[in-house]
Parts: sequence; structure tokens; C-alpha cells
Amino acid sequence: MEVVVKNLVKKYNGFKAVDNISFRVNQGEVLGFLGPNGAGKSTTMKVITSYIAPSEGDVEVGGYSVITHPEEVKKLIGYLPENNPLYLDMPIMDYLEFSARLQGVPKEKVNQRVREMIKVCGLIGEKHKLIAELSKGYRQRVGLAHAMIHDPQVLILDEPTSGLDPNQIIEIRKLIKDIGKQKTVILSTHILPEVEATCDRILIINKGHIVADGTPETLRKQAKGREVIRVKIEDGKESEIINALRGVPSIMAVEALAGKENTFEVQADKFAAPKRDIYKMCVDKNWVLTEMVPYETSLEDIFHDLTIS
Ligand code: ADP
Repeated sequence: MEVVVKNLVKKYNGFKAVDNISFRVNQGEVLGFLGPNGAGKSTTMKVITSYIAPSEGDVEVGGYSVITHPEEVKKLIGYLPENNPLYLDMPIMDYLEFSARLQGVPKEKVNQRVREMIKVCGLIGEKHKLIAELSKGYRQRVGLAHAMIHDPQVLILDEPTSGLDPNQIIEIRKLIKDIGKQKTVILSTHILPEVEATCDRILIINKGHIVADGTPETLRKQAKGREVIRVKIEDGKESEIINALRGVPSIMAVEALAGKENTFEVQADKFAAPKRDIYKMCVDKNWVLTEMVPYETSLEDIFHDLTIS
């Protein structure tokens, strides 16, 4: 099922928290919504779930508009909000049964759905406990079970792994990835390894604007700006080589790598052909270039370049 966001604007007292964003998410896709705090991620998710209305533009879920058909949209969506509100004094089983009824699961199917969710979300050992007795990780699983109880076509997860320990994070990410094979999943996070581990596609949002959209691979390819290259240059004195490298116009910074003789890490302007310049410099000085390895641009670098104020 498709989610189509069209020219969405959301204002709070005149302040544009989301400023004219458009994107489409397809079935079988896990989209990671990435951005610094305050970028507009939660606001966008609240509009998609029809929890708040857009100021301008529209969102369509399975062809239904959040403006004209918010009730239909709600039925199609499972939502795990940021702070995962739960009824703490209810046992897990009762809470999920209650959620199922609330979400319109037919009476005769409620028990079966609750059992399935308990299993899928790894809650078997805890199922009779009160929610108040659960750790943060298990509460998050209950939140996920609640979001999925009516077998929605679209899952919207706001910071799904926040507050979990590393083992729980691995399990929840695996669960989301599996779900994403058949459903449409949008998750928000500000944790970069999370999107790499879970998402097919990344949308980076900053100050209410989309600043990047693509697979982790394409984003790396399109990464603007810096390139980091490791070079090894022989037959010259280390201090002379450093000075010469610093004199190359396309090179922005040079560092000698500790413990590796005549090996340097160079930060360069990607668009100014630094590798050519380094090669030529070595030929001019009669030094031998024995290594020149570009490092892969990390998502951290891309994110930093795109969202820095
Ligand atoms: P994110 O989820 O990316 O951290 P949010 O969508 O929560 O960002 O917030 C985007 C901007 O909108 C922030 O500047 C935030 O302070 C503001 N904002 C969010 N909710 C409200 C609200 N209910 N009233 C006023 N401003 C809000």
C-alpha cells in the first residue's frame, strides 16, 4: 500500500515545522526518516497517521486522503508514537485484547491475533505480567504489538528503538525488517546505524525540508564535499611530504597516520580531482606513490554535511 505525501506544510502558530515536503513510499519498503531533533519528523508522522491535520497539502494512504477520510486512514495504519503511551496497570494479554477490539478486529479473531502478536514480538515469557512490571525494551515490544494487532498495511514507528539495550535493538530491528518485506514501514530515528540496519531508503529532513532521498548507497555516491584518501608516498622525508601535500590546492587537511611510515590521511575537495593532483605532485618531486585509497564516505559525513546549520 502506498503512502503519498504531497506538498505537506504544517504550521504551529505560524512557524513552519514542516515546509512543503513531498515523497512517496511503496509497499515492501522500509523508509527511514532521519534528521536532527526538531527537524519535523514526528510532525510529519502525526499528519500521516491523521493524528493532526496538515496546514497545507495532503497525504494519501492507500488512496485515502487524511483530510477527507481520516477514519479510513487510521484503520490502515499501525502507529507507535514517540513516547509509547501504555496502560501500565493492565496485563499484556488484556491490553492487547483491548487494543484489538478498539482497532476493530472481529471478535472471533481477537484471541488468535493476540497470540500471534505475543509470539511475533517475543513476549511469550512475559505475557501474564502487568505492563508496569516490564522493562523499557519489553514495553516497546508491547507498543509494537499494539501497533500491529489489526494487521495494518502501513506501520509508522517513531523512534522505535529509543531506550532499548543493544540486544533488544538488534531484535527489534530484525523484526521491523521482516515486517517491511510485506508492509509499508516508515520509521523515524536520529541514529544513523539504525537506518543502515533496517531501511531500504533514507529520507533526510532538516528544518522542515527534505535534504536527501535515496538508498544508503546512492546517498554515499551523491555525497557532496569532502573525500578522504589514504596515501603512502615513499622516497621523501615525512615532513617534506606533509608540506607538499598541504600545498596542493584541492587538499584541505593532511594527517600522518600513527604507526604507519610515510602514510597520510588526506581530506580533499572531491570535485577538484585531488587524486590527479597528488599523483602529479609525486611525479614532480620524484617520490613514489605506493598507495592511494579513497575511504567510503560514511552516512555520518553525509548527514553532517546536509544538516549542519
Ligand atoms: P522531530 O520529530 O524531528 O524532533 P518535531 O516534528 O517534533 O521534530 O518538531 C518540529 C518543530 O516543530 C520543532 O521546532 C518543535 O519545537 C515544533 N513543534 C512540534 N510540536 C509542536 C507543537 N505542538 N506546538 C508548537 N511547536 C511544535
